[in-house]
Amino acid sequence: MAIADRYMRVIDEVAEQCRQQGRDPREVRVVAISKTVGLDGVRDALAAGASDFGENRPDQIMEKSAAYPEATWHFVGNIQSRRIADIVASAHLIHSLFELSHARKIDQEAARLGKVQDVLIEVNVSGEGTKSGVAPQDAFEMVQACAQMPHVRVRGLMTMAPADDSEAARATFEGLARLFDDIKTRLDEGVASSFDELSMGMSDDWREAIEAGATMIRIGRAIFSDDFE
Ligand SMILES: *Cc1c(COP(=O)(O)O)cnc(C)c1O
Repeated sequence: MAIADRYMRVIDEVAEQCRQQGRDPREVRVVAISKTVGLDGVRDALAAGASDFGENRPDQIMEKSAAYPEATWHFVGNIQSRRIADIVASAHLIHSLFELSHARKIDQEAARLGKVQDVLIEVNVSGEGTKSGVAPQDAFEMVQACAQMPHVRVRGLMTMAPADDSEAARATFEGLARLFDDIKTRLDEGVASSFDELSMGMSDDWREAIEAGATMIRIGRAIFSDDFE
């Protein structure tokens, strides 16, 4: 199947899952994670109607966002301090922020570029040693610290679930949704009003994520890989 066909199949399935859950499909944004394909892959998905793309490497988001500035670009990868200027220059939304020193540097770089950088705080809900993110009990403090920074706007939370275990994924997503609600009620009104995104769910577990309240799902293989079923 071609990328365009797989993209449209995903969109149809997401809309169906939303309806089954009593949710409006417009509440759930599909971010096409294009890290495994080149510019032609992005072009094919754009032609099929994709508007949001995610990358996990600074060089890739720089190249692809320059080629397709009409799309919305998401950075979902590991943040290295020395690449923050490049990431801020290219990303509309950074999903994977969890270190305060990186937040400070993002604030500086965004100020330099005259922008306010939208970010999500990555939370390690499952507690797996291999996963990145702040511990759930530290998330509120991190959100509050970022909210003080004039060129950073915290839009919500992001997490990754354990692989190949849909019950563990469900528990992880429900945990992030509860944490999100708890943090939102504790924030000042101004900060709370733009704290509205839950980025969770990938090719194998996006159904559970939509059920738990995801507003963004990050789909790579189901759109871009030939052998994903
Ligand atoms: C690669 C990646 C995805 C997409 O994963 P798939 O299983 O291919 O859908 C989502 N989020 C992050 C952070 C990724 O690195």
